[in-house]
Amino acid sequence: MANGNLFVISGPSGAGKGTLVARVLERVPNTWVSVSATTRKPRKGEKHGVHYYFLSDEEFDAIIEENGFLEWATVHTARYGTPLQSVLDHIDEGMQVLLEIDVQGGLQVKDKVPDAHLVFIEPPSMEELRERLIKRGTETIDVINARMKVAEVEMREKKKYDFVLMNDNLDEATDNLLEYIESFARNNEEE
Ligand code: 5GP
Repeated sequence: MANGNLFVISGPSGAGKGTLVARVLERVPNTWVSVSATTRKPRKGEKHGVHYYFLSDEEFDAIIEENGFLEWATVHTARYGTPLQSVLDHIDEGMQVLLEIDVQGGLQVKDKVPDAHLVFIEPPSMEELRERLIKRGTETIDVINARMKVAEVEMREKKKYDFVLMNDNLDEATDNLLEYIESFARNNEEE
């Protein structure tokens, strides 16, 4: 059986990562999105084991100790990490594995797994990003300002990614991301 591939999907909050990943899942067979662990509290409607594994600080520390994370980072005010074993298992099963993680984590993955494909989703402009965050209506203006600062730092790292995808038009961005992922899936089938 052909081996699977590992894709990292990063980009500022509001760039549309979540929507693009959901669309890829619907349309590319054999794709799987990793469920991260986090020390942040669940938001309304979020379920343990589905959206995240919600852990205490002690539980998170224990996984770090046993080298159980592929990568981990502090994002905003909490820690987030990718459980290593389930990623390896799904790649072994020949799946296209997606990690929706921040830039600090993405660059750690690149160091540890040079074959990983790093995709950076960027908004058409910083003004557009701010407008999208305001329109979402889920965050206060202080949180939006903080996210904009983080976004500026993240945008400086995009040159370290393998593929930068502008999410201006959602349908076009989806098609481009599908094409990118499928090109690696196809190559493996031909081997
Ligand atoms: P949220 O708390 O809004 O769900 O996610 C906040 C940020 O954490 C997002 O930028 C998301 O990509 C990032 N994130 C989620 N899971 C992980 C992970 O396992 N590792 C890293 N490094 N970042 C993550």
